[in-house]
Amino acid sequence: MEPEKIIELSEDEPFCFDCQSKVPCFNECCRDLNQFLTPYDIVRLKNHFKLSSSDFLNQYTTKHIGPQTGLPVITITPADRFERICPFVTPAGCSVYENRPSSCRMYPVIRVLSRSREDGNKQIRYALIEENHCQGFEQKRQLTVREWMDGQGLTPYNETNDLMMDIISLKNQYIPGPLEGQAQSLFYTMCYDIDCLKEDERPAGLEYIEVSEAEKNDDEKLLRFSMNYLKKYFLALGLK
Ligand code: SF4
Ligand code: SF4
Repeated sequence: MEPEKIIELSEDEPFCFDCQSKVPCFNECCRDLNQFLTPYDIVRLKNHFKLSSSDFLNQYTTKHIGPQTGLPVITITPADRFERICPFVTPAGCSVYENRPSSCRMYPVIRVLSRSREDGNKQIRYALIEENHCQGFEQKRQLTVREWMDGQGLTPYNETNDLMMDIISLKNQYIPGPLEGQAQSLFYTMCYDIDCLKEDERPAGLEYIEVSEAEKNDDEKLLRFSMNYLKKYFLALGLK
């Protein structure tokens, strides 16, 4: 079997790819799940199911702690432990399609964000990952990376994912070892379990965070608020 290929390409470079129900491998990539969820993925999915963030996390996800970083990481819990099938896949396709996670939207494109050391400006590079089982590359549809990302509705996902990268990089800069205790709980809540911020009685450490009514009534605003709060939290550690 040939190894998978990674091909670097620019935002306006075209590639051939299509993924729809007539592709012979339809749904195959939803059956070997190793699906990480970003904070914005969780907002979209918990609202899809009309669940609180805590209930969504409890019902559908598994929490891991990065051994080196101490950072909480969330994955979708497979429907079947041995076959690792996504709980949202059906014979007709993805049952949460309009709110599917960013990694499901992004494939086969990889987007890598880095920041210039000189001025902190964003640099974004793209690549295609060609997996052996994926027959999407044999289809005739041709489109550019930019067209692919627009068609997949990735803008709000990329915005919060970029903010997450900034937070992780600040954490690694100012707390190079594992995050622990209250700082780890704060990270978890502010990134993943944001509905806790709507409650009057909050977990320890979150009691004094002021949240406006506008943020409480709009989850995307609330997520931006909570992630910016976390960013300032790590920046403040750097000033000590
Ligand atoms: S969320 Fe949808 S697209 Fe993503 S792995 Fe699950 S079924 Fe597939
Ligand atoms: S393997 Fe490729 S073409 Fe097949 S369903 Fe997954 S992404 Fe689509």
